[in-house]
Amino acid sequence: MAPLSLGPGDDVDAWCGKCLMVMNHRIIAVVGSQIKKVECLTCHAIHAYKSEPGAKATREMSGRSVADRGKNSVGRVPRTSRAENEWSVIMTEMQPETQPRSYNITKSYMVAEFIEHPKFGVGRVMEITGAEKMVVIFKDGRKTLLCNRVAATI
Ligand SMILES: [Zn+2]
Repeated sequence: MAPLSLGPGDDVDAWCGKCLMVMNHRIIAVVGSQIKKVECLTCHAIHAYKSEPGAKATREMSGRSVADRGKNSVGRVPRTSRAENEWSVIMTEMQPETQPRSYNITKSYMVAEFIEHPKFGVGRVMEITGAEKMVVIFKDGRKTLLCNRVAATI
């Protein structure tokens, strides 16, 4: 029998049911010459080894995953797209009836409040960092905005 070239701790390309892509995985368990368990290096899910999507997935899907894999093979995520991603996740928590308050330097805001900035658009207050400062996440990323300013001090 040919010796198994891969063993636990080695990296292998495998289908991840969570990422829905062929991702880089670390081998957790090998039985005989078969890889049994792998850990996804992207989402850290531990699951049975599959070289490609199971019977449930369509052919079309596996074709696309290979194409995506080629495109995304460099694990480099531009800063802006990561910020945008975080922002879009946060935006999904906004209820349809929520009306973001328009941003005004003299007003005070609360953490988790949705606001609308004339330049940056809709964002959400992530943190109050001082008496007159807050961090708000926008599509462009996190910004520190002034708030709670008394009109006379502007
Ligand atoms: Zn994964």
